[in-house]
Amino acid sequence: MVLKRIFRTVIMGPPGSGKGTVSGRIVKRFGLTHLSSGDLLRANIKAKTELGLLMKSCIDQGQLVPDDIISRLILTEMRSIEQSSWLLDGYPRTLAQAETLDGVCSVDRVINLDIPFQTIKQRLTSRWLHLPSGRVYNIDFNPPKISGLDDVTGEPLIQRDDDRPETITRRLKSYENQTQPVLEYYRSKGMLETFSGTETNKIWPHIQAFLSETLFSQNENVVGKA
Ligand code: ADP
Repeated sequence: MVLKRIFRTVIMGPPGSGKGTVSGRIVKRFGLTHLSSGDLLRANIKAKTELGLLMKSCIDQGQLVPDDIISRLILTEMRSIEQSSWLLDGYPRTLAQAETLDGVCSVDRVINLDIPFQTIKQRLTSRWLHLPSGRVYNIDFNPPKISGLDDVTGEPLIQRDDDRPETITRRLKSYENQTQPVLEYYRSKGMLETFSGTETNKIWPHIQAFLSETLFSQNENVVGKA
């Protein structure tokens, strides 16, 4: 397939909306390059830089990282994938970030995952992690064999600091206050495609159909990488 133009999309949705899962599927199915602000932040935190420590304290408290810091990180990363079609995940999360992004490139479409907050709260508080391996359990639909212990090593499971109930409430509030205006911004530009539901597997076929239609049916052969 011949690359005729680059396709750039943003995926939005509250924390725990299944954004990570859907992004993974989009990347696999459509070959877009995945750029995740959360992953980028965690990589910086792991590197234990001074900036990383500042970011960690924001994230652990359920607060957003300051706009200038996250924008700098994302835009730097973006420069290296300028010639690729990409999927941006977790950015922009504030109007200021959306305007910064607008200043450097044009986004084609914005995918919005619209999941009830109640469903999200339930999902996030039931997520447990085996830190050394990254194995994730869910006490509702994927529980460990022995409560609180990893199936493979028998080591204790932990809850991510930012998955604690009080932190989740704060993260959802921040989504409501700071990120919903971004949805309005994209809606007013006619770029927003909203997908509503409570189960990722039921939403996914609609997203897949939408992207197939957008990418392949309009005689616009768009592929992931040049
Ligand atoms: P989630 O979508 O579950 O919140 P992420 O991995 O996307 O998880 O982000 C984790 C945390 O990183 C957020 O709660 C926030 O503190 C910080 N973060 C991620 N993206 C941004 C952003 N664009 N602007 C500010 N802070 C961000």
